[in-house]
Amino acid sequence: MQLIPFATQDVPRYTSYPTAVQFQPDFPGAYADQWLAALPPEATLSVYVHIPFCRQLCWYCGCHTTVPNSYERAARYVGHLVRDIMRSAAIFEGRKGRVTHLHFGGGTPTYLDDFHIGEIVAAIDKAFGLAPGGEIALESDPRTLTRERARVLARMGFNRISFGVQDFATPVQMRINRLQTYGLVAAANDYLRDAGFASVNFDLMYGLPGQTVESVARTAQQAAGLKPDRISVFGYAHVPWFKKHQRMIDEAELPGVHARYAQATRIEAELNGLGYASIGLDHFALEQDMLTKAARSGTMRRNFQGYTTDVSDALLAFGASAIGEFAEGFVQSARDTLEWSQRIERDESPVIRGIATTAEDRLRAAVIERLMCDLAVDPAAIAARQGFPDDVFADLPEKLDPLIAAGIAELDGNRITVPARRRLFLRNVAAAFDAHFVAAANRHARAV
Ligand code: SF4
Repeated sequence: MQLIPFATQDVPRYTSYPTAVQFQPDFPGAYADQWLAALPPEATLSVYVHIPFCRQLCWYCGCHTTVPNSYERAARYVGHLVRDIMRSAAIFEGRKGRVTHLHFGGGTPTYLDDFHIGEIVAAIDKAFGLAPGGEIALESDPRTLTRERARVLARMGFNRISFGVQDFATPVQMRINRLQTYGLVAAANDYLRDAGFASVNFDLMYGLPGQTVESVARTAQQAAGLKPDRISVFGYAHVPWFKKHQRMIDEAELPGVHARYAQATRIEAELNGLGYASIGLDHFALEQDMLTKAARSGTMRRNFQGYTTDVSDALLAFGASAIGEFAEGFVQSARDTLEWSQRIERDESPVIRGIATTAEDRLRAAVIERLMCDLAVDPAAIAARQGFPDDVFADLPEKLDPLIAAGIAELDGNRITVPARRRLFLRNVAAAFDAHFVAAANRHARAV
């Protein structure tokens, strides 16, 4: 099939542009502080907090996380987090009370006890001010949730939660070291709804060892039956040279590219049939969900958390490896928690990587974001709005021709469209606008 070369191409996820691969090492942390100080007083803020701890490692995991040998390490981490939040608050000169989105990611944020989660929320509120009616979200592991815990989190202000389901089939769960029954996930879902959570998201995966088209279809049906508001579906990225624990996965049991494609398309068909609209590359949402409405109106955004309705002016990031975004560029804190904490103890910015974006980077970012969100874009119109000459994408025809020939992209005048049935190849088309993209193996995840 002519799609195979594209399906096996390693392409960025385009949750940012330039992508994190382009961030420069030894980037001065002082830039992050200057950009924070320069935010306009009326700027709206999104805040991300990274908690790099889990109770147990899932063999497929691609996140920046670890299993600490004692809770004491996590408690010290929270101390450093709060210290860095207050250091940043002293630099911030904007208006308080404009944090419209607060997102805890990981790792497993609910690895932390309620006291420590509450301490971080209170620090963010004191430092920057949570906006009334804002979104406070966390990623969680259903194995760490109880009825009482869900109530406590809701009382702290959390109103949105996302948790990893991946696959309900026990043989698959045994192969990925993540045993959680359907009953356990259903109970966690009930606790959250009873506690008043307005939005629940499930993550599913395809391409895991032991998965078949029938098993993923069954999981999709069971997941949809629990009526989460949103479902994200990711292909497993096998990168054992980068994530050593993935060596525990038997490569001989990994589905090949044809099977991965069949699994992804079957999940989509099941979810569509059960009332979930396809959103962007890999998200699904109920018709009444805000994300579906944003996707339909062309106002959906894409950031490090994936597809979102978040339109904040800046993303402030706290925690080891966390990535922040300003109008001027991207900043990333040290991944190593020891280096990260030592910088904070010296009252320095923990940022060590980043990139100052150029006007052309911002143009390409806008084109890629619209394409990833809308499956269509008019690059010439965006270029004209941003004051660029007609020939800024002069090399585009050469890059697009093979995609058009394969039926992945269509061209109508200046407008480029990715047919809905080819949405899995959105990243291949986005790469045509990526001035830094180098077609090479093992740099990014495969398209399918
Ligand atoms: S719970 Fe999530 S972050 Fe932790 S190891 Fe499993 S997949 Fe990775």
